[in-house]
Amino acid sequence: MSDLKITKLNKHYGAFHAVKGIDLEVPSGEFTVLVGPSGCGKSTLLRTIAGLEEASSGTVEIGGQDVTWARPRDRNIAMVFQNYALYPYLNVKDNIAFGLRSRKVAEAEVEKRVKRAAEMLGIAHLLARFPRELSGGQRQRVAIGRAIVRDAILYLFDEPLSNLDAQLRDDMRVEIKRLHQELGRTMIYVTHDQIEAMTLADRIVLLRDGLIEQQGAPLDLFERPKTRFVAGFLGSPKMNFIPATLTETGVALSDGTALELPGRRGLKAGQAVVLGLRPQYISMAGQALAPGHARVPVTIELVQPTGSRVQATMPLGGASIIAELAAHDVSRPGERTAIDIDMTRAVIIDPQSEQVI
Ligand code: ATP
Repeated sequence: MSDLKITKLNKHYGAFHAVKGIDLEVPSGEFTVLVGPSGCGKSTLLRTIAGLEEASSGTVEIGGQDVTWARPRDRNIAMVFQNYALYPYLNVKDNIAFGLRSRKVAEAEVEKRVKRAAEMLGIAHLLARFPRELSGGQRQRVAIGRAIVRDAILYLFDEPLSNLDAQLRDDMRVEIKRLHQELGRTMIYVTHDQIEAMTLADRIVLLRDGLIEQQGAPLDLFERPKTRFVAGFLGSPKMNFIPATLTETGVALSDGTALELPGRRGLKAGQAVVLGLRPQYISMAGQALAPGHARVPVTIELVQPTGSRVQATMPLGGASIIAELAAHDVSRPGERTAIDIDMTRAVIIDPQSEQVI
């Protein structure tokens, strides 16, 4: 059963069309991440699900009920906001309990649920404090606690980690994932951060200009992007894009480099394309060339260590590409060497339509 079903949803702000006829279904228990660049409409979509924005047309069903015109509090949702939205004059315990008490849940039950949520979130020792006496990370935990004590059908998160520093964000990401595993609730999470989307989601819904560009399991989108936009949005460092021309069995680059595309026959030789290579699927040339790989001589221009890996920049086919290599493989910039490219992972894009071929 779907906990959320959106049909032909449109949202206009005056003349501006922010959400353009979106259809979306979220099955029970799934962690769905709405992701996309700034302004793509992901917060608008979430806020329309929550009832904080009114749909211009289309329907929103939650738990099988049409709630398109229902008030937020009648929608069976709990929401966590970016700015926490805690009540400053209530202590942590009362903040977490607020939604339960306003729904007249018996006090013994309130106590039980607040205690459990606080323990899960590691804030049981902070229940008597006021928001002003908490760090940003602790406030965000309280905001999450306030949502998870509720018996909602949908749990909505609007960029909940974006005000936290990088380390805390990583920690909280793990906690949110753990919470989802423990609670098994249906969660919809908005972020512009593709790493957050890749690590948290059962399913990513990638939005662009008010439309769903592609949706699926994170690895599915990473390995099988349907468009150049998806290929370029997911992955860090980003996919390399190199102008190329199709041959009978592969591609030719502008510097004459010929690369086979394993398993792909009947290519339209002569067609201009863009070759997409992920930095993760390029390695330093080893002893033997693995099946489906191509070996290419290169000169490394720039080396950026990131710990156990380095990001090495080098020219290839008129483009500057990045390879993510093992740190011990690269000694210095200016090194003349060879790389092995896993061509089974290569993506070929039509430059006109920007669709993956
Ligand atoms: P971000 O990551 O920057 O928050 P987003 O994908 O969440 O972006 P939205 O906040 O949903 O984007 O906004 C989508 C578009 O709608 C943007 O172009 C924005 O300027 C516009 N928009 C949002 N709210 C309003 C409003 N109240 N009035 C007019 N335009 C709005």
